[in-house]
Amino acid sequence: MNDFRHLPAVDRVLAEVPELIESHGRQLVTACVRAELAAAREGSKHGLPLPEKADLFAAIRRRATTAGRANLRPVFNLTGTVLHTNLGRALLAEEAIAQMVDAARSPCALEYDLASGGRGDRDDLVSGLLAELIAGGAPEIAATIVNNNAAAVLLTLNALAQGKEAVVSRGELVEIGGAFRIPDVMRRAQVKLVEIGTTNRTHAKDYAEAIGPKTALLMKVHTSNYAVTGFTKTVDAKEIAAIAHAAGLPFIIDLGSGTLCDFAAYGLPPEPTPQQALAAGADLVTFSGDKLLGGPQAGLIVGRRELIAKIKKNPLKRALRVGKMTLAALEATLRLYCDPDRLAERLPTLRLLTRPANEIAALGQRLLPDVQAALGELATVSVEDCSSQIGSGALPVERLPSAALVIRPTAKRSGKALLAIEAAFRRLPRPVIGYVRDAAYHLDLRCLEAGEEASFRAQLVALQPA
Ligand SMILES: *Cc1c(COP(=O)(O)O)cnc(C)c1O
Repeated sequence: MNDFRHLPAVDRVLAEVPELIESHGRQLVTACVRAELAAAREGSKHGLPLPEKADLFAAIRRRATTAGRANLRPVFNLTGTVLHTNLGRALLAEEAIAQMVDAARSPCALEYDLASGGRGDRDDLVSGLLAELIAGGAPEIAATIVNNNAAAVLLTLNALAQGKEAVVSRGELVEIGGAFRIPDVMRRAQVKLVEIGTTNRTHAKDYAEAIGPKTALLMKVHTSNYAVTGFTKTVDAKEIAAIAHAAGLPFIIDLGSGTLCDFAAYGLPPEPTPQQALAAGADLVTFSGDKLLGGPQAGLIVGRRELIAKIKKNPLKRALRVGKMTLAALEATLRLYCDPDRLAERLPTLRLLTRPANEIAALGQRLLPDVQAALGELATVSVEDCSSQIGSGALPVERLPSAALVIRPTAKRSGKALLAIEAAFRRLPRPVIGYVRDAAYHLDLRCLEAGEEASFRAQLVALQPA
């Protein structure tokens, strides 16, 4: 039996949902009430009965809950890619989160020199730490921080080579996922790119012969997201530095990722560091804050003090500078590197990359019964070996042994069932993102840490794959 002869007015409905208004705000709830009433009216025009009162209110509640949720929501990254650009790259250490929260909540000495009471420089918050970590505190080394590494490259090129030429090997004209291509960035920086060598081979004499009256600098780009193998030749940084310096030119390296620690010491594939780049003779290095460094999104430019000073005077620096939240997280992250013994335990990026495969497989075995129960007859679940990747272009060829929950639909033509299962995991309160391979849905458990096991398990009851 239907409660409504006519649909109630918006205000009458609103009067009955004070708790929704309290949680989500009057404007949002009003919009939801209007939308549900309009849907009911539309249905009734097409001969459907008006909804039961309880159903109407339940629909309003559902709509408000969905609309009131944050758009930028936490998810479970079970894609097997640790530094996943679309999922926000590096997770911050607790120390970095705490310093960010402090900076958000209170006034802080962002550009204020507490010793003199005069104006400070925001780069000074991390410049000394970076010089210490990268160059043993050498006084001629300084740093400046911008929004991301793409900005770091743009600013560096514009400040040092506007209207002039920069020499880069053809084998290093990389495109980083999305819209970052070295030749395009050069053009926007108003620098003329001089390409040398061929795709697979570049020689020292190619650099030397490219230098002319208009040359402003030599540049090396770390080919972070692909590898050229076979008949190849690159010129190492030391040699390029010598050629540049003989001509009185600066040599800059875009490292892309750039970790401050020795990956080999953690059993990881070696990755070039800014320390090595400067030691090899680079005058400046640029790298990302949120790739292997494990910090916030930022672009770090580190190197010779007089070049950094020139970069800081460029008007683009003001447009590309970072805010206090970024600097808070970056400072705290860099401080963790001052205590290498505890780094792998405190820095999530390194902790996740070094997680042993047997520990991940054991987690899979613990979760398997619950995942199988949530899927019922729809699929069979097993724990299988898989390989994770580092992501964000770092070490594209290397794989890290890991373990995944592998979900295979039981239906004969399983394509649709697979999509339905994938979508159901994405609809969970905290969406779960895996990947499909070989007609199976994979959940690589490398990035599901112990502290999250319970919440992952608890929400499985809400899984609705049908
Ligand atoms: C990732 C990367 C960039 C871009 O860095 P963002 O921090 O994403 O802007 C530039 N150069 C190289 C070589 C990279 O790997």
